[in-house]
Amino acid sequence: QQGERTRLVEAHKVAAKFYAEQLDGAEAEIGRAFLAGRGFDQAAARHFGVGYSPAGWDHLTRFLRGRGFTDKELILSGLSQDGRRGPIDRFRGRLMWPIRDITGDVVGFGARKLRDDDNGPKYLNTPETPIYRKSHVLYGIDLAKKDIAKGNRAVVVEGYTDVMACHLAGVTTAIATCGTAFGGEHVKILRRLLMDNSRAKVIFTFDGDAAGQRAALRAFEDDQKFAAHTNIAVSPGGMDPCDLRLDKGDDAVRQLIEESTPLFEFALRSVVARHDVDTPEGQAAALEEAAPIVAHIKDSSIRHQYAVRLAGLLGILDTQFVVMRVGQL
Ligand code: ATP
Ligand code: MN
Ligand code: MN
Ligand code: MN
Repeated sequence: QQGERTRLVEAHKVAAKFYAEQLDGAEAEIGRAFLAGRGFDQAAARHFGVGYSPAGWDHLTRFLRGRGFTDKELILSGLSQDGRRGPIDRFRGRLMWPIRDITGDVVGFGARKLRDDDNGPKYLNTPETPIYRKSHVLYGIDLAKKDIAKGNRAVVVEGYTDVMACHLAGVTTAIATCGTAFGGEHVKILRRLLMDNSRAKVIFTFDGDAAGQRAALRAFEDDQKFAAHTNIAVSPGGMDPCDLRLDKGDDAVRQLIEESTPLFEFALRSVVARHDVDTPEGQAAALEEAAPIVAHIKDSSIRHQYAVRLAGLLGILDTQFVVMRVGQL
């Protein structure tokens, strides 16, 4: 329904402006302090449209009603939720990041808690609505799309603050998923922007743990033309780009992205790192774990090269044995 979408987008536009204005108020001092502590000044907050949701029950709900939105529309938009006596604000006392679609329409919000006594989750996002599907949105895509297309490359980071940090550091192709793993729909969005797919590059950063890395491998499993051009960048000490920029500055963020490692190489190295490959037992165990990764590579020439590479990483001199083991899978 075109009319419904228009109404929900309009409600989000009004809400984004409302939240942004609230960020200047006395109650939002805690939000401004959070931003300052992350290395974001007022201009940065404005560039990304960051706002603050008041801590009361229904400030936004009442404001939107005053602008002619019905309770039904407010619930449908996800901006309000059912309370004991009618709709109340979904987001209360949080720092608000407007999430825009590729055309620049605000379709949802990411909201971070600011107080320890707030017992909700650290990040709260807009629920699935007629205009917001988390598997389809990429935070920052509206700001990054031009440079992604121009440079034929994209940088995928984990969070809102990481997108901000990257852009401010000059990595203007940074985007993030919103409270979900990078998946097939996200690949499709990038694919449309990255015209020359044979030379496109997608660089992922993660703050350390293996979960994100496995997700990246999975996301590109059906799309291996792309996987061959996918790199991983993990900063020393598991810092995310926002932490890294705070600690070491803009140059370090750019450097992190420049010094990324090809996805398959990264995957093999992380398996090897989990085993003691100084012993035959460790070598064999690592081989069993790593061989399926290599076997999944569709391009037979690249697969062969990675099998040889794996032998090297494992310190197995009988390269042919590793190639054969991969071939059996
Ligand atoms: P911080 O603001 O503490 O630096 P971060 O952005 O580094 O947070 P992480 O804990 O590294 O946050 O999580 C990365 C991203 O994952 C977040 O930006 C958010 O999109 C999502 N996320 C984290 N925790 C939650 C949660 N409880 N619910 C939904 N999404 C979450
Ligand atoms: Mn994390
Ligand atoms: Mn993080
Ligand atoms: Mn962080």
